[in-house]
Amino acid sequence: MYIYPYSMSEKLLDWFNIDFDRIYNEQGGMQREQLKLINKYSILTEAKSNAYMTIKRLEKSKNKENIDFAANVKNTMVGTLSSEITKTLATSEYADEIIIEWQPSSAEEERATHALHYGQRMTIKQAEKLGLGVEYNCQCGMKLISGQQYAQPIINKINRGKS
Ligand SMILES: [Zn+2]
Repeated sequence: MYIYPYSMSEKLLDWFNIDFDRIYNEQGGMQREQLKLINKYSILTEAKSNAYMTIKRLEKSKNKENIDFAANVKNTMVGTLSSEITKTLATSEYADEIIIEWQPSSAEEERATHALHYGQRMTIKQAEKLGLGVEYNCQCGMKLISGQQYAQPIINKINRGKS
């Protein structure tokens, strides 16, 4: 079993029908229809509040007209959800039983600090501490070496949008 938190997040947000082009309402907030959709999924709670913070920050920019709000909101939401996936696994009841092997990033630009861990085996807790899926824009993955039976139900729950 392989888990790539970043690409899993991209796929999930797409699956949930989140339309990044239609989130920002041009008035410092979010469009009601998208907000309703986001609110349906408890796993997106943190992603929603971070998206609000991103919108607030961008609103203050002097360069506001030239900013791609949709792309920024997408980055924020994908990154937050990715981090939530790793954190949910790392804080789960049997986290100590979940051993992973660090998989290389799917991003073209790799992070030297993460490349150091490629192929290494460790608990999900250690991987989280070292930033797998948690650090900004990390696209590394994990291969589950043991504890798959504990991770699978958590992943299934996340796939249904539940935290
Ligand atoms: Zn990484």
